Amino acid sequence: MYDLTERRRALALVSQGHSLNAVSRMTGVSRSALREWRVRVEPKRSVPDCPGRASGPAYAYLLGLYLGDGCISPQPRGGHTLRIACSDAWPGLIDACEEAVRAVCPGNSVCRVHAQGCTMVTSYGRHWPCLFPQHGPGRKHERPIALEPWQQAVVDEHPWDFVRGLIHSDGSRVVNRTTRLVGGEPRRYEYPRYFFTNKSVDIRRLYTDTLDTLGVAWRQANACNVSVARKASVALMDRFVGPKY
Ligand SMILES: [Zn+2]
Repeated sequence: MYDLTERRRALALVSQGHSLNAVSRMTGVSRSALREWRVRVEPKRSVPDCPGRASGPAYAYLLGLYLGDGCISPQPRGGHTLRIACSDAWPGLIDACEEAVRAVCPGNSVCRVHAQGCTMVTSYGRHWPCLFPQHGPGRKHERPIALEPWQQAVVDEHPWDFVRGLIHSDGSRVVNRTTRLVGGEPRRYEYPRYFFTNKSVDIRRLYTDTLDTLGVAWRQANACNVSVARKASVALMDRFVGPKY
């Protein structure tokens, strides 16, 4: 069994231009192993019983939450902690988040950690980076974010859950009120709208691509902000997402 450092060292020789044969001779690693490592460098059995992927509406929802307000950090003794920041203004969403975390990884413990103005729903486990391979150093908007094919398949199957997760983390439903004169009489009008605000162009794209498949019209309101304002589209969002609670 070769550890990750040994694997990377061998792959570095390959990428320097040495043939698989030559690297195999230099390192004692078989060519088939080298070929395998080029596809996936992590040792497969380093983490037993890895689910590798997740499915279902709870995962689609949690993926939306994670892309909006989540982070994964390694723990000193191994394993990782998933943290989703939830605003204290929406206690129902904290419950929904916790429920989704439990549904996606039933074996993991889940707890709430209170911070200023928000509650972190946190869960320790060994597979969070496998389930959210977007995990990486730096902020999400400073690195490319792309879904794995299996994640895209979950989103395709449960698009509204994904959109709900994104809106529940980085979105809002706002109501603009105006008064207009109709036949000389002032009449009040309300225009509900949905906004989604995220600095990552990739995450905004995932949101708008999903809206496209759902037939929801959107427009870029400003640099980081996507608006859904057309009546029929807002009605769809109200039916499947709704205001925060
Ligand atoms: Zn795993």
